[in-house]
Amino acid sequence: MITKCPGQDTRFWKPNDVYTVECPQCSKPVEFFKDDIRRRCKECGHMFINPKLNLGCARWCQYADQCAGAIGREEFKEIIMVAMKEHYSKDKEKVDNALKVSKFVEDILEHEEGNPKVVIAAGLLYDIGLREMENKPDRTKESDQAKDTFSTVRDILERSGSKPEIIEEVCHIIENHHHPENNNTLNGKIVYDAVRLANGWHTYDTKDKEKLKKIINEEFYTTTGIKIAEKLYL
Ligand SMILES: [Zn+2]
Repeated sequence: MITKCPGQDTRFWKPNDVYTVECPQCSKPVEFFKDDIRRRCKECGHMFINPKLNLGCARWCQYADQCAGAIGREEFKEIIMVAMKEHYSKDKEKVDNALKVSKFVEDILEHEEGNPKVVIAAGLLYDIGLREMENKPDRTKESDQAKDTFSTVRDILERSGSKPEIIEEVCHIIENHHHPENNNTLNGKIVYDAVRLANGWHTYDTKDKEKLKKIINEEFYTTTGIKIAEKLYL
């Protein structure tokens, strides 16, 4: 028997759980419910993702697999992408860089068995997380660094209905940016390789192809990351 998910029972909603969003194509208002993943603009027919989507209830809800839990890989990626763009607003350079990382994540995923949701989210939110790390609040030893630091990354992931273990892993990957050797999971390796490839791995000043090949093999972590780097730099 399927009982209605309480988070989606509109009787419990607050007034601002229903709102209008400007259509990105024609600027006409489009009404969204907070858990509408996408809607079509009545004016111009453009279908777009809800930029304020909130599937937070799915994190604890026993009915999650019947609603948000069923979000597929492409849809999940699109939701995170929209939230990332919304966060950066007009900063096109940041948006482009995140999309570049994401493209390399996808390329590597074609041949590596990583968890798609973890690596896609980490790739798209990597730079937001790094900035949050730079601006991290003062903390005492007792406080949980990851919880204090990644509030935007966490918020985006929570609204996308991500499970706590996915959120923790994404934060952990970003947190070890300066010490990737501390994070030996395949998911971490995929993201570190993608970030390096997207940011233009610094080519060494050498004409010695064998030496360069050796350096690439030492500095990239996944077999596919190494292959792509060799193609780009050798
Ligand atoms: Zn429209």
